[in-house]
Amino acid sequence: MIQFHNITKTYSRTHSHALRAVNFKISEGEFIYITGHSGAGKSTLLSLILRRITPTVGTVYLFGKDARKIRESKLPYLRRQMGMVFQNHRLLPNVSAQENLSFVLRATGHKGNLAQKSTVALRHVGLAHKRKAYPIELSLGEQQRVAIARAIVTKPAILLCDEPTGNLDPDTSWEILDLLNELHMRGTTILVATHSRELVDSLKHRTIVLRAGEVIRDDIEGGYTL
Ligand code: ADP
Repeated sequence: MIQFHNITKTYSRTHSHALRAVNFKISEGEFIYITGHSGAGKSTLLSLILRRITPTVGTVYLFGKDARKIRESKLPYLRRQMGMVFQNHRLLPNVSAQENLSFVLRATGHKGNLAQKSTVALRHVGLAHKRKAYPIELSLGEQQRVAIARAIVTKPAILLCDEPTGNLDPDTSWEILDLLNELHMRGTTILVATHSRELVDSLKHRTIVLRAGEVIRDDIEGGYTL
């Protein structure tokens, strides 16, 4: 689904080597953590997957295509296959949970009963009963669950999560991780970028550990211990 072949990314302005000779493959149905301390290269790796940037050396393959050869005009279609969850949920504050999802469906050209499709996605995260609630009326954990519902409502091929529990207390973090695990069990391919050792240790999945831009471990068994 996604492959990094000998990827080096150097930011020319600062001469920082954000990634060095990185190789890995993500297959359909995997749950994978990308972890490492701040500055290790996690965001750079996500930006390459989202094709916001291109590598200095090497080839990124996205759904079998060389990312460099994907035309600018095709990027929206590419990104529609990727659901994004951020540390800050970035929900629209002035509309309900359901309308937050309908908005995305409308923006991506979906037709039919958008409210119903939104409710189905909210049901997947256990929040169908809160569909009329505004973000401010929801707990932080619930807001993040709505953000996950919004990321999956378009049925992307892969869910990319950037520090998805960064703002949450340990119990709520666990809830979110549990939810991601459940979505994975139902067949969603999931990538979680995080610096949180607790997160990676609490639910074991394949873990790629970056240090100063290099993959120092790619461990199917999971866990953070260096
Ligand atoms: P992480 O997400 O793991 O904290 P990053 O990918 O953000 O790591 O950063 C990796 C390295 O690349 C760091 O040294 C950082 O300073 C540098 N870097 C990241 N983004 C840029 C950028 N846009 N321009 C210049 N240097 C950058």
